[in-house]
Amino acid sequence: MQLPTPTFVTDTTIGLYIHIPFCESLCPYCNFFKHRHDPTSDSRSQLVQAIQQELIAYQTHYPDLTIQSIYFGGGTPSTLQPEHWLTLLNQIQSAWPLANTCELTIEMDPLHITPDWLAALEKQGPMRVSMGAQSSDATVLKHLGRRHTWSDVVTAVGRIRSLSTVSIGLDLMFGMPQLTPQRLAGVLNDYAQLGIDHVSTYGLTLEPGTPFYATQTTRSDDAMADDYDQIFNTLTAAGFDWYERSAFAKPGHASIHNQGYWQFRPYLGVGPSAHSFFQGQRFRTISQFQAYCQSPVRSVPKRPIDYGARFEEWLMVGLRTRAGVSLAQGQQWFGINLEENSSVIELIQSALLALEHGRLVATYSGLHVLDAVVEQIVFKAEPVSKP
Ligand code: SF4
Repeated sequence: MQLPTPTFVTDTTIGLYIHIPFCESLCPYCNFFKHRHDPTSDSRSQLVQAIQQELIAYQTHYPDLTIQSIYFGGGTPSTLQPEHWLTLLNQIQSAWPLANTCELTIEMDPLHITPDWLAALEKQGPMRVSMGAQSSDATVLKHLGRRHTWSDVVTAVGRIRSLSTVSIGLDLMFGMPQLTPQRLAGVLNDYAQLGIDHVSTYGLTLEPGTPFYATQTTRSDDAMADDYDQIFNTLTAAGFDWYERSAFAKPGHASIHNQGYWQFRPYLGVGPSAHSFFQGQRFRTISQFQAYCQSPVRSVPKRPIDYGARFEEWLMVGLRTRAGVSLAQGQQWFGINLEENSSVIELIQSALLALEHGRLVATYSGLHVLDAVVEQIVFKAEPVSKP
């Protein structure tokens, strides 16, 4: 049976991710592609010019795109001068039409909320600012090598809040041995009291190649699961809805851009080391700053789409979300009737999955063991192989 081509292959309404790889200091747990920011060098101008070239190349090849969301991430995008950021935004806006609901997000350092940046943010109207606060606990912030204090975060939030149209999100990290349940309760209380709109949570992982890898430990898996329960219960009681395992938002503040990743909508990543998911394929730009700046437009290898791998990925990212995955999409995109999958039936009987309005969702217990759940389903499923 010939199935229709999935919309993740054909859709021309996309998210746009811009990677700015500079940071004021390098956190010892972080394995993102980044460099220490040197304000005396011309690296920011170099980067902006290279990103402009990459955008022009995409515009030339794909003039008919519509932009659903624009996300400046990093690194720390606010290491740019505000005028650099406005230049890139202007270029994007003149290259493609923006969807009516187009969402704009920038990740910022709490110490970068200057009058110049506030003026630039205000110029853009409704938008989102995400700050890597990570914690309110001074011991934890020191351990994580962060430059800011909680007082800096409070000041930054107050300044941004003066722009009534900006939605504010903070990151929250857990899993460090210093972050006992008592300390985590204090952190969660501080976050709940601050009047922010969104919280993204991250369990500490020790990544090879980082200073933490050789020298640190994390809390045990069981303790991390307890920490997550504490986070989930406190944030939901404080008026945040969870919409993905790690993402909590006040009503109306869920991230359209991140939901695009989880709903398998296409996006282009621009800037060094940026990932893309476009026309059903995943690819990334080069992870070397000078090489990227010298030649930002490179051909990337195109391989046939592996529908088996895509199915597993779709299931994993979809089941992490509160909305789960659509049964109709499973059928149309991968030729799989999830309702008849014997593993799905068993997992529903075990109360790890549930059916809700034509969708398959993970229960709260299922969310805690999602790797095993997905593995069990994939083992019994045979996605179609498309030409
Ligand atoms: S955690 Fe954020 S600020 Fe720290 S080094 Fe990584 S990207 Fe930079």
